Amino acid sequence: MSISQSLFDRARVHIPGGVNSPVRAFRSVGGVPRFIARASGARITDVDGVEYVDYVGSWGPMILGHAHPEVIDAVVRAAADGLSFGAPIPGEVELADLLARLVPSLEMVRLTSSGTEATMSALRLARGFTGRDRIIKFGGCYHGHGDSLLVKAGSGALTFGSPDSSGVPACLAELTTVLEYNNTARLEEAFAVIGRDVAAVIIEPVVGNMNLIAPDPVFLKTLRRLCDQYGALLIFDEVMTGFRVALGGAQALYGIQPDLSTFGKVIGGGMPMGAFGGRRDIMEQLAPLGPVYQAGTLSGNPVAVAAGLATLRLLQADGFYAELADKTRRLTDGMAAAAARHGLPFAAQSVGGMFGFYFRHGLPRNYDEVMESDRPRFNRFFHAMLDKGFYFAPSAFEAGFVSAAHTIADIDLTIAQAGDVFASLAAD
Ligand SMILES: *Cc1c(COP(=O)(O)O)cnc(C)c1O
Repeated sequence: MSISQSLFDRARVHIPGGVNSPVRAFRSVGGVPRFIARASGARITDVDGVEYVDYVGSWGPMILGHAHPEVIDAVVRAAADGLSFGAPIPGEVELADLLARLVPSLEMVRLTSSGTEATMSALRLARGFTGRDRIIKFGGCYHGHGDSLLVKAGSGALTFGSPDSSGVPACLAELTTVLEYNNTARLEEAFAVIGRDVAAVIIEPVVGNMNLIAPDPVFLKTLRRLCDQYGALLIFDEVMTGFRVALGGAQALYGIQPDLSTFGKVIGGGMPMGAFGGRRDIMEQLAPLGPVYQAGTLSGNPVAVAAGLATLRLLQADGFYAELADKTRRLTDGMAAAAARHGLPFAAQSVGGMFGFYFRHGLPRNYDEVMESDRPRFNRFFHAMLDKGFYFAPSAFEAGFVSAAHTIADIDLTIAQAGDVFASLAAD
Protein backbone atom coordinates (compact mmCIF):
# COMPACT_ATOMS: atom_id res chain seq x y z
CA MET A 1 0.00 0.00 0.00
CA SER A 2 1.32 3.48 -0.83
CA ILE A 3 2.08 5.92 1.97
CA SER A 4 -0.51 8.27 0.44
CA GLN A 5 -3.11 5.50 0.70
CA SER A 6 -2.33 4.76 4.34
CA LEU A 7 -2.30 8.46 5.23
CA PHE A 8 -5.62 8.93 3.42
CA ASP A 9 -7.14 6.03 5.35
CA ARG A 10 -5.94 7.58 8.60
CA ALA A 11 -6.98 11.10 7.55
CA ARG A 12 -10.59 10.03 7.08
CA VAL A 13 -10.88 9.07 10.74
CA HIS A 14 -10.60 12.61 12.10
CA ILE A 15 -10.92 14.85 9.03
CA PRO A 16 -14.21 14.90 7.07
CA GLY A 17 -13.45 13.19 3.76
CA GLY A 18 -9.79 13.13 4.78
CA VAL A 19 -9.19 16.64 3.44
CA ASN A 20 -9.38 20.24 4.59
CA SER A 21 -10.83 21.46 1.26
CA PRO A 22 -13.15 19.22 -0.80
CA VAL A 23 -11.58 19.09 -4.29
CA ARG A 24 -8.35 17.68 -2.83
CA ALA A 25 -10.16 14.42 -2.13
CA PHE A 26 -10.06 13.29 -5.81
CA ARG A 27 -13.81 12.55 -5.57
CA SER A 28 -14.57 13.48 -9.16
CA VAL A 29 -11.64 11.57 -10.70
CA GLY A 30 -11.55 8.69 -8.23
CA GLY A 31 -8.42 7.20 -6.71
CA VAL A 32 -6.18 8.23 -3.87
CA PRO A 33 -5.09 11.85 -3.41
CA ARG A 34 -1.33 12.24 -3.31
CA PHE A 35 -0.02 13.55 -0.02
CA ILE A 36 2.74 16.00 -0.80
CA ALA A 37 6.04 16.02 1.04
CA ARG A 38 7.81 18.93 -0.66
CA ALA A 39 7.96 21.01 -3.79
CA SER A 40 10.52 23.02 -5.69
CA GLY A 41 10.13 25.07 -8.88
CA ALA A 42 7.67 23.40 -11.26
CA ARG A 43 7.72 20.08 -9.40
CA ILE A 44 6.02 18.53 -6.39
CA THR A 45 7.10 15.32 -4.70
CA ASP A 46 4.66 13.06 -2.88
CA VAL A 47 5.26 11.12 0.32
CA ASP A 48 6.06 8.00 -1.72
CA GLY A 49 8.93 9.85 -3.40
CA VAL A 50 7.18 10.27 -6.79
CA GLU A 51 7.84 13.57 -8.54
CA TYR A 52 5.27 15.36 -10.71
CA VAL A 53 5.33 18.38 -13.01
CA ASP A 54 2.72 20.48 -11.23
CA TYR A 55 -0.02 22.31 -13.13
CA VAL A 56 -2.09 23.12 -10.03
CA GLY A 57 0.36 25.41 -8.24
CA SER A 58 -1.70 25.29 -5.02
CA TRP A 59 -4.69 26.35 -7.19
CA GLY A 60 -2.93 29.47 -8.40
CA PRO A 61 -0.68 31.09 -5.78
CA MET A 62 2.62 29.53 -6.82
CA ILE A 63 3.11 31.70 -9.91
CA LEU A 64 6.89 31.87 -9.30
CA GLY A 65 7.11 28.11 -8.83
CA HIS A 66 7.37 26.36 -5.48
CA ALA A 67 9.80 27.41 -2.75
CA HIS A 68 11.23 30.37 -4.65
CA PRO A 69 14.42 31.23 -2.71
CA GLU A 70 13.62 34.95 -2.38
CA VAL A 71 10.10 34.27 -1.09
CA ILE A 72 11.30 31.63 1.35
CA ASP A 73 14.03 33.98 2.57
CA ALA A 74 11.49 36.77 3.16
CA VAL A 75 9.23 34.38 5.08
CA VAL A 76 12.04 33.02 7.24
CA ARG A 77 13.30 36.51 8.10
CA ALA A 78 9.81 37.75 8.94
CA ALA A 79 9.09 34.68 11.07
CA ALA A 80 12.26 35.20 13.10
CA ASP A 81 10.92 38.61 14.18
CA GLY A 82 7.66 37.17 15.50
CA LEU A 83 4.60 35.59 13.91
CA SER A 84 1.81 38.00 14.80
CA PHE A 85 1.34 41.16 16.84
CA GLY A 86 -2.28 42.22 16.35
CA ALA A 87 -0.92 45.72 15.74
CA PRO A 88 0.09 47.59 12.57
CA ILE A 89 3.39 46.73 10.85
CA PRO A 90 5.43 48.66 8.25
CA GLY A 91 5.07 45.90 5.63
CA GLU A 92 1.30 46.28 5.32
CA VAL A 93 1.70 49.98 4.48
CA GLU A 94 4.27 49.08 1.85
CA LEU A 95 1.95 46.39 0.46
CA ALA A 96 -1.06 48.74 0.32
CA ASP A 97 1.02 51.34 -1.57
CA LEU A 98 2.26 48.69 -3.97
CA LEU A 99 -1.25 47.29 -4.58
CA ALA A 100 -2.60 50.77 -5.29
CA ARG A 101 0.20 51.28 -7.81
CA LEU A 102 -0.18 47.91 -9.56
CA VAL A 103 -4.01 47.94 -9.66
CA PRO A 104 -5.13 51.53 -10.30
CA SER A 105 -8.79 50.92 -9.24
CA LEU A 106 -7.53 50.23 -5.69
CA GLU A 107 -7.63 53.65 -4.08
CA MET A 108 -7.80 51.91 -0.72
CA VAL A 109 -7.32 48.29 0.22
CA ARG A 110 -7.78 46.06 3.27
CA LEU A 111 -6.07 42.73 3.88
CA THR A 112 -7.83 39.54 4.95
CA SER A 113 -6.63 35.98 5.54
CA SER A 114 -8.44 34.29 2.62
CA GLY A 115 -10.24 34.95 -0.63
CA THR A 116 -13.55 33.94 0.93
CA GLU A 117 -13.19 36.61 3.60
CA ALA A 118 -12.39 39.18 0.92
CA THR A 119 -15.53 38.43 -1.13
CA MET A 120 -17.81 38.24 1.94
CA SER A 121 -16.44 41.58 3.15
CA ALA A 122 -16.79 43.21 -0.26
CA LEU A 123 -20.46 42.15 -0.43
CA ARG A 124 -21.23 43.53 3.02
CA LEU A 125 -19.49 46.74 2.10
CA ALA A 126 -21.46 47.01 -1.16
CA ARG A 127 -24.70 46.44 0.73
CA GLY A 128 -23.77 48.96 3.38
CA PHE A 129 -22.69 51.56 0.84
CA THR A 130 -25.73 51.26 -1.43
CA GLY A 131 -28.35 50.51 1.23
CA ARG A 132 -29.57 47.68 -1.03
CA ASP A 133 -29.64 43.93 -0.35
CA ARG A 134 -29.79 42.18 -3.71
CA ILE A 135 -26.70 40.61 -5.33
CA ILE A 136 -26.18 39.30 -8.87
CA LYS A 137 -23.71 36.52 -9.61
CA PHE A 138 -23.17 34.19 -12.57
CA GLY A 139 -23.67 30.45 -12.80
CA GLY A 140 -20.44 28.49 -12.41
CA CYS A 141 -18.48 31.37 -10.86
CA TYR A 142 -17.08 30.57 -7.42
CA HIS A 143 -16.50 33.33 -4.92
CA GLY A 144 -15.57 31.39 -1.81
CA HIS A 145 -17.93 29.69 0.62
CA GLY A 146 -19.86 32.67 2.01
CA ASP A 147 -23.62 32.18 2.46
CA SER A 148 -24.71 34.81 -0.08
CA LEU A 149 -22.48 33.29 -2.74
CA LEU A 150 -23.18 29.56 -2.40
CA VAL A 151 -26.30 30.06 -4.44
CA LYS A 152 -27.58 28.60 -7.69
CA ALA A 153 -30.27 29.76 -10.08
CA GLY A 154 -33.73 29.12 -8.59
CA SER A 155 -36.08 26.83 -10.45
CA GLY A 156 -39.22 28.89 -9.99
CA ALA A 157 -39.15 32.67 -10.04
CA LEU A 158 -36.63 34.06 -12.50
CA THR A 159 -34.71 36.21 -10.10
CA PHE A 160 -34.61 34.33 -6.80
CA GLY A 161 -31.59 32.13 -6.17
CA SER A 162 -31.72 28.99 -4.07
CA PRO A 163 -29.10 27.54 -1.70
CA ASP A 164 -26.26 25.61 -3.36
CA SER A 165 -25.25 24.13 -0.01
CA SER A 166 -27.15 22.70 2.86
CA GLY A 167 -27.06 25.20 5.72
CA VAL A 168 -27.45 28.31 3.58
CA PRO A 169 -30.74 29.96 4.62
CA ALA A 170 -33.22 30.12 1.72
CA CYS A 171 -34.17 33.68 2.73
CA LEU A 172 -30.56 34.75 2.20
CA ALA A 173 -30.12 32.83 -1.06
CA GLU A 174 -33.25 34.54 -2.40
CA LEU A 175 -31.36 37.82 -2.28
CA THR A 176 -28.86 36.51 -4.83
CA THR A 177 -29.85 36.35 -8.49
CA VAL A 178 -27.87 33.91 -10.61
CA LEU A 179 -27.52 34.71 -14.31
CA GLU A 180 -25.78 32.97 -17.20
CA TYR A 181 -22.17 33.97 -17.82
CA ASN A 182 -21.54 35.79 -21.13
CA ASN A 183 -25.30 36.21 -21.74
CA THR A 184 -25.59 39.94 -22.40
CA ALA A 185 -29.28 39.90 -23.36
CA ARG A 186 -30.27 38.12 -20.14
CA LEU A 187 -28.21 40.62 -18.13
CA GLU A 188 -30.05 43.56 -19.71
CA GLU A 189 -33.41 41.90 -18.97
CA ALA A 190 -32.52 41.22 -15.35
CA PHE A 191 -31.38 44.81 -14.75
CA ALA A 192 -34.58 46.13 -16.29
CA VAL A 193 -36.54 44.16 -13.65
CA ILE A 194 -34.39 44.33 -10.50
CA GLY A 195 -31.61 46.81 -11.33
CA ARG A 196 -32.72 49.40 -8.75
CA ASP A 197 -32.50 46.81 -5.94
CA VAL A 198 -29.05 45.52 -6.81
CA ALA A 199 -26.24 46.37 -4.37
CA ALA A 200 -23.56 44.66 -6.41
CA VAL A 201 -22.76 42.36 -9.26
CA ILE A 202 -19.87 40.04 -8.44
CA ILE A 203 -18.06 38.27 -11.25
CA GLU A 204 -14.93 36.34 -12.07
CA PRO A 205 -13.72 38.53 -14.95
CA VAL A 206 -12.08 35.40 -16.37
CA VAL A 207 -13.68 32.32 -14.82
CA GLY A 208 -11.31 29.76 -13.34
CA ASN A 209 -13.78 27.76 -11.27
CA MET A 210 -15.78 25.97 -13.98
CA ASN A 211 -12.62 25.13 -15.85
CA LEU A 212 -11.50 28.29 -17.73
CA ILE A 213 -14.15 30.49 -19.36
CA ALA A 214 -13.05 33.67 -21.11
CA PRO A 215 -15.36 36.68 -20.99
CA ASP A 216 -16.96 38.19 -24.05
CA PRO A 217 -15.59 41.77 -23.87
CA VAL A 218 -19.02 43.14 -24.87
CA PHE A 219 -20.55 41.30 -21.91
CA LEU A 220 -18.08 42.91 -19.48
CA LYS A 221 -18.59 46.36 -21.00
CA THR A 222 -22.37 46.01 -20.80
CA LEU A 223 -22.06 44.95 -17.19
CA ARG A 224 -20.04 48.07 -16.36
CA ARG A 225 -22.59 50.28 -18.16
CA LEU A 226 -25.62 48.68 -16.46
CA CYS A 227 -24.05 48.96 -13.00
CA ASP A 228 -23.46 52.68 -13.62
CA GLN A 229 -26.95 53.19 -14.99
CA TYR A 230 -28.68 51.50 -12.04
CA GLY A 231 -26.33 52.57 -9.25
CA ALA A 232 -25.10 49.04 -8.50
CA LEU A 233 -21.46 48.38 -7.64
CA LEU A 234 -19.34 46.19 -9.89
CA ILE A 235 -17.12 43.76 -7.96
CA PHE A 236 -14.39 41.96 -9.87
CA ASP A 237 -13.46 38.83 -7.97
CA GLU A 238 -9.81 38.66 -8.95
CA VAL A 239 -8.87 36.08 -6.30
CA MET A 240 -7.72 33.84 -9.14
CA THR A 241 -7.02 36.31 -11.96
CA GLY A 242 -5.24 38.95 -9.86
CA PHE A 243 -1.49 39.04 -10.63
CA ARG A 244 -2.11 35.89 -12.71
CA VAL A 245 -3.48 36.99 -16.09
CA ALA A 246 -1.61 40.33 -15.96
CA LEU A 247 0.16 42.39 -13.31
CA GLY A 248 -2.94 44.59 -13.03
CA GLY A 249 -5.30 41.61 -13.15
CA ALA A 250 -8.16 40.97 -15.58
CA GLN A 251 -9.29 44.58 -15.15
CA ALA A 252 -6.04 45.71 -16.79
CA LEU A 253 -6.32 43.06 -19.51
CA TYR A 254 -9.89 44.01 -20.48
CA GLY A 255 -9.69 47.72 -19.64
CA ILE A 256 -12.64 47.76 -17.22
CA GLN A 257 -12.56 49.62 -13.93
CA PRO A 258 -14.57 47.83 -11.20
CA ASP A 259 -15.79 49.67 -8.10
CA LEU A 260 -14.40 46.99 -5.80
CA SER A 261 -12.01 44.10 -6.35
CA THR A 262 -11.11 41.05 -4.31
CA PHE A 263 -7.80 39.23 -4.24
CA GLY A 264 -6.29 36.06 -2.79
CA LYS A 265 -4.05 33.24 -4.02
CA VAL A 266 -1.06 34.97 -5.75
CA ILE A 267 -1.27 37.99 -3.44
CA GLY A 268 -0.03 35.86 -0.52
CA GLY A 269 2.63 33.99 -2.49
CA GLY A 270 1.48 30.73 -0.86
CA MET A 271 0.70 32.11 2.60
CA PRO A 272 -2.93 32.63 3.68
CA MET A 273 -3.82 36.16 2.56
CA GLY A 274 -6.57 37.96 0.68
CA ALA A 275 -7.51 41.57 0.08
CA PHE A 276 -10.40 43.71 -1.03
CA GLY A 277 -10.32 47.29 -2.15
CA GLY A 278 -11.47 49.92 -4.59
CA ARG A 279 -13.05 53.33 -4.63
CA ARG A 280 -12.09 55.54 -1.68
CA ASP A 281 -15.65 56.76 -1.03
CA ILE A 282 -16.78 53.14 -0.68
CA MET A 283 -13.81 51.87 1.34
CA GLU A 284 -14.21 54.75 3.81
CA GLN A 285 -17.50 53.17 4.89
CA LEU A 286 -15.46 50.45 6.65
CA ALA A 287 -14.89 50.45 10.41
CA PRO A 288 -13.24 52.29 12.10
CA LEU A 289 -14.07 55.15 9.66
CA GLY A 290 -17.60 54.08 8.80
CA PRO A 291 -20.54 51.88 9.80
CA VAL A 292 -19.64 48.66 7.91
CA TYR A 293 -17.93 46.25 10.30
CA GLN A 294 -15.06 44.06 9.12
CA ALA A 295 -12.04 42.79 11.06
CA GLY A 296 -9.46 40.01 11.39
CA THR A 297 -7.13 38.93 14.20
CA LEU A 298 -4.52 37.71 11.73
CA SER A 299 -5.24 40.21 8.92
CA GLY A 300 -2.02 41.75 7.64
CA ASN A 301 -0.06 38.93 9.25
CA PRO A 302 3.67 39.78 9.07
CA VAL A 303 4.76 36.47 7.52
CA ALA A 304 1.99 36.52 4.92
CA VAL A 305 2.71 40.17 4.09
CA ALA A 306 6.42 39.36 3.66
CA ALA A 307 5.61 36.48 1.29
CA GLY A 308 3.20 38.69 -0.67
CA LEU A 309 5.65 41.57 -0.96
CA ALA A 310 8.49 39.30 -2.10
CA THR A 311 6.21 37.65 -4.67
CA LEU A 312 4.78 40.90 -6.04
CA ARG A 313 8.29 42.37 -6.28
CA LEU A 314 9.45 39.49 -8.48
CA LEU A 315 6.34 39.68 -10.67
CA GLN A 316 7.32 43.18 -11.76
CA ALA A 317 10.34 41.91 -13.73
CA ASP A 318 10.33 43.08 -17.36
CA GLY A 319 8.56 40.66 -19.66
CA PHE A 320 7.39 38.38 -16.83
CA TYR A 321 3.77 38.12 -17.99
CA ALA A 322 4.57 37.98 -21.71
CA GLU A 323 6.83 35.01 -21.12
CA LEU A 324 4.34 33.29 -18.82
CA ALA A 325 1.51 33.80 -21.32
CA ASP A 326 3.65 32.47 -24.20
CA LYS A 327 4.55 29.32 -22.27
CA THR A 328 0.96 28.73 -21.23
CA ARG A 329 -0.29 29.20 -24.80
CA ARG A 330 2.42 26.83 -26.03
CA LEU A 331 0.99 24.18 -23.69
CA THR A 332 -2.64 24.61 -24.76
CA ASP A 333 -1.82 24.97 -28.50
CA GLY A 334 0.38 21.88 -28.30
CA MET A 335 -2.24 19.80 -26.48
CA ALA A 336 -4.99 20.90 -28.87
CA ALA A 337 -2.85 20.01 -31.90
CA ALA A 338 -1.99 16.60 -30.42
CA ALA A 339 -5.66 15.85 -29.69
CA ALA A 340 -6.66 16.96 -33.20
CA ARG A 341 -4.11 14.54 -34.73
CA HIS A 342 -5.99 11.73 -33.01
CA GLY A 343 -9.40 13.07 -33.95
CA LEU A 344 -10.52 13.62 -30.35
CA PRO A 345 -13.20 16.19 -29.53
CA PHE A 346 -10.98 18.59 -27.58
CA ALA A 347 -10.42 22.31 -27.17
CA ALA A 348 -7.97 24.33 -25.07
CA GLN A 349 -7.21 27.96 -24.33
CA SER A 350 -5.18 30.15 -22.01
CA VAL A 351 -5.40 33.64 -20.55
CA GLY A 352 -2.05 34.82 -19.20
CA GLY A 353 -0.74 32.11 -16.88
CA MET A 354 -4.01 30.17 -16.53
CA PHE A 355 -5.41 27.60 -18.91
CA GLY A 356 -8.34 25.33 -19.61
CA PHE A 357 -8.81 22.22 -21.73
CA TYR A 358 -12.09 20.50 -22.48
CA PHE A 359 -13.03 17.12 -23.90
CA ARG A 360 -15.68 18.62 -26.18
CA HIS A 361 -15.90 20.36 -29.56
CA GLY A 362 -15.13 24.08 -29.26
CA LEU A 363 -14.47 26.43 -26.38
CA PRO A 364 -17.29 26.68 -23.81
CA ARG A 365 -18.80 30.10 -23.04
CA ASN A 366 -20.82 29.28 -19.95
CA TYR A 367 -21.62 26.65 -17.33
CA ASP A 368 -24.04 24.60 -19.47
CA GLU A 369 -21.50 24.36 -22.28
CA VAL A 370 -18.62 23.36 -20.03
CA MET A 371 -20.85 20.66 -18.51
CA GLU A 372 -21.06 19.07 -21.97
CA SER A 373 -17.41 17.96 -21.58
CA ASP A 374 -16.75 14.22 -21.61
CA ARG A 375 -16.05 13.62 -17.94
CA PRO A 376 -15.10 9.92 -18.08
CA ARG A 377 -12.59 10.76 -20.80
CA PHE A 378 -11.12 13.58 -18.71
CA ASN A 379 -10.79 11.23 -15.76
CA ARG A 380 -8.89 8.69 -17.83
CA PHE A 381 -6.65 11.44 -19.17
CA PHE A 382 -6.03 12.75 -15.65
CA HIS A 383 -5.00 9.36 -14.24
CA ALA A 384 -2.87 8.45 -17.26
CA MET A 385 -0.98 11.75 -16.95
CA LEU A 386 -0.65 11.35 -13.18
CA ASP A 387 0.91 7.91 -13.75
CA LYS A 388 3.40 9.54 -16.12
CA GLY A 389 4.32 12.22 -13.55
CA PHE A 390 2.11 15.16 -14.57
CA TYR A 391 -0.18 16.61 -11.93
CA PHE A 392 -3.25 18.34 -13.39
CA ALA A 393 -6.24 19.54 -11.36
CA PRO A 394 -8.23 16.47 -10.24
CA SER A 395 -11.46 17.72 -11.82
CA ALA A 396 -12.66 18.51 -15.34
CA PHE A 397 -14.06 21.77 -13.97
CA GLU A 398 -10.98 23.52 -12.65
CA ALA A 399 -8.51 25.74 -14.48
CA GLY A 400 -4.80 24.90 -14.65
CA PHE A 401 -1.77 27.04 -13.93
CA VAL A 402 1.71 27.46 -15.37
CA SER A 403 4.46 29.06 -13.29
CA ALA A 404 7.61 30.98 -14.15
CA ALA A 405 9.55 27.87 -13.10
CA HIS A 406 8.08 25.70 -15.87
CA THR A 407 10.61 25.43 -18.69
CA ILE A 408 9.89 25.07 -22.40
CA ALA A 409 11.28 21.55 -22.02
CA ASP A 410 8.70 20.82 -19.27
CA ILE A 411 5.93 22.10 -21.52
CA ASP A 412 7.09 20.15 -24.57
CA LEU A 413 7.48 16.97 -22.55
CA THR A 414 3.94 17.42 -21.22
CA ILE A 415 2.58 17.86 -24.77
CA ALA A 416 4.42 14.76 -25.98
CA GLN A 417 3.14 12.63 -23.11
CA ALA A 418 -0.38 14.01 -23.49
CA GLY A 419 -0.16 13.03 -27.17
CA ASP A 420 0.49 9.42 -26.16
CA VAL A 421 -2.49 9.50 -23.82
CA PHE A 422 -4.71 11.01 -26.54
CA ALA A 423 -3.64 8.19 -28.86
CA SER A 424 -4.76 5.55 -26.37
CA LEU A 425 -8.02 7.43 -25.64
CA ALA A 426 -8.74 7.59 -29.37
CA ALA A 427 -7.98 3.89 -29.77
CA ASP A 428 -10.81 2.72 -27.50
C1 LIG B 1 -10.19 30.54 -4.66
C2 LIG B 1 -11.24 31.56 -4.94
C3 LIG B 1 -11.97 32.18 -3.91
C4 LIG B 1 -11.87 31.74 -2.48
O1 LIG B 1 -10.61 31.99 -1.94
P1 LIG B 1 -10.15 31.15 -0.63
O2 LIG B 1 -8.81 31.72 -0.32
O3 LIG B 1 -10.12 29.72 -1.07
O4 LIG B 1 -11.15 31.40 0.42
C5 LIG B 1 -12.84 33.20 -4.23
N1 LIG B 1 -12.98 33.61 -5.50
C6 LIG B 1 -12.30 33.05 -6.52
C7 LIG B 1 -12.50 33.56 -7.90
C8 LIG B 1 -11.43 32.00 -6.27
O5 LIG B 1 -10.79 31.42 -7.30
